[in-house]
Amino acid sequence: MTARIIDGKKLAETIKLDLADRINALKEKDIIPGLTVILVGDDPASQVYVRNKANTFTKLGLNSSVEQYPTSLSEEALCERIRELNNDPSVHGILVQLPLPANLDANKVIETISPEKDVDGFHISNAGALMTGRPLFIPCTPYGVMKMLESEKVELRGAEAVVIGASNIVGKPMALLLQKAGATVTICNSKTKDLAAHTKRADVLVVATGRPEMVTGNMIKPGAIVIDVGINRGADGKLKGDVEFSSAKDVASAITPVPGGVGPMTIVMLLVNTIEAAERKL
Ligand code: NDP
Repeated sequence: MTARIIDGKKLAETIKLDLADRINALKEKDIIPGLTVILVGDDPASQVYVRNKANTFTKLGLNSSVEQYPTSLSEEALCERIRELNNDPSVHGILVQLPLPANLDANKVIETISPEKDVDGFHISNAGALMTGRPLFIPCTPYGVMKMLESEKVELRGAEAVVIGASNIVGKPMALLLQKAGATVTICNSKTKDLAAHTKRADVLVVATGRPEMVTGNMIKPGAIVIDVGINRGADGKLKGDVEFSSAKDVASAITPVPGGVGPMTIVMLLVNTIEAAERKL
């Protein structure tokens, strides 16, 4: 079997085209959706992510600004800037690029963002609402994965779904969304015993560990849908996922590539969330 490639880049372009009408409707009312991204420190990977996000917004005629601060920025100064942005009507979304330098408390910083502008969906009130009800924003990466599964018409009701990785920004919200869609979900972490015993049961396998190519073809149930969230830069400078694509593609029925899979979907869902934030202001 050779797996169908789930083309995140193509799906992201289709979603962008669908957003054009919503953007135009806002512009007719003199509203241009605006995102402010805050980057603290000089992590090279974060700089690339931030640039990609800002470019996507600019290409669609939306407002985006990147505020870059040195690692020496104090937590109070950062929170004060966020409070100013909370009160700025031209800013619909605020995103603090993670990870933050160790001297800053990421939870405290994120909780300073107004939940109505928390387009990453990481604020505790949005995270809690994801568990109990309808959040204002769904975190972009798991949201993008759900759109990919939807576009592939994957039947999630009754499916065995396994998520490897339990972070607040990917693994946990991913598991909640799959569970809400009716799947029976297992969440694995670094202490999980006999990981392969879990992964081999999965009709839908989502891998988000940051461990390059840790899931190999022999750990995958034949015919499974495999979603690789991982983005790791190899010693050769090339991007690698958390799944070994070469062996996994011979076992899975569909698989996301890295790059060109989940990454572009994350950015487009940030657009969706920011447009939604602007629409709520109408
Ligand atoms: P974190 O480091 O926050 O979390 C990693 C999770 O993986 C933890 O729960 C950890 O377990 C678990 N884990 C680590 N090693 C193993 C292992 N050997 N077996 C089982 N579980 C393991 O990472 P993130 O969730 O932030 O990111 C994960 C990956 O996704 C990274 O490669 C990141 O670059 C990528 N990413 C991609 C995005 C995209 O747009 N495509 C967006 C965001 C992230 P424990 O809880 O026990 O520590």
